[in-house]
Amino acid sequence: MNWITLFFGFVFGSIVGSFLNVCIHRIPQDTSIIMPSSHCPSCKTPIHFYDNIPLVSFIILRGRCRGCQAPISLRYPLVEFLMGFFSVILLLRYGISPLYLIYFAFFAALTLVSFVDLSHRIIPDVISLPGIIIGLAISLFHPQLSITNSLIGVLLGGGSLYVVASVYHLVTKREGMGGGDIKLLAMIGAFIGWKGVLFTILCSSIIGSVVGVILMLISSEADSKYAVPFGPFLSLGAVIYVLWGEYLINWYMGILRGIAAV
Ligand SMILES: [Zn+2]
Repeated sequence: MNWITLFFGFVFGSIVGSFLNVCIHRIPQDTSIIMPSSHCPSCKTPIHFYDNIPLVSFIILRGRCRGCQAPISLRYPLVEFLMGFFSVILLLRYGISPLYLIYFAFFAALTLVSFVDLSHRIIPDVISLPGIIIGLAISLFHPQLSITNSLIGVLLGGGSLYVVASVYHLVTKREGMGGGDIKLLAMIGAFIGWKGVLFTILCSSIIGSVVGVILMLISSEADSKYAVPFGPFLSLGAVIYVLWGEYLINWYMGILRGIAAV
């Protein structure tokens, strides 16, 4: 993989990231993602195409609107960089191939869902529900995933979180995990199968607990009803599975075998 391909891969990813930023902003408001064209949320000035170049414009404008100097959210360059990074790392892994496209689209959906969840505490059905169908449809052509595996992934992903959420609600009488998380994990299952779902649950619980404890230690209100949204952790777990899951599972199995041998 030469550096020119990787460079254009990064540019492509960051342009997709720029489009995701528009969706992250507009989907929770239920407004069209095409019209009107991008404008500054504080002064409503339309944004010129030359101020809308992924990453570059943010640096040139030093993170402020050209018209009113209102600060631009760090989320914009962050999502653009993240999608550029995902594109490059997937190119290095899969080259220019169907698997690159499948996982890039999957990562784009996860990024979108995570940032909407972070700012609005909702996981939009308009992403997760079609995502389940698309994931199932793709499994028909997927070189590494059968339709059976994908279907079990959906049922296991949706079912297991449904049980956890119901038990949590029964014990604490509070809404812990929302229905959005259940549909998100079902979508993840459609794309990476049952093994991926198990890995995602384990991985996101570990990272989520660590982050949750840290947040609890630094914040004064220990018993916040709006603890940490879980969508970003599920998404992170799924990304880790696609990129390093096989390697991590083998490594873990190696340790188990080592212990068994002693
Ligand atoms: Zn402005």
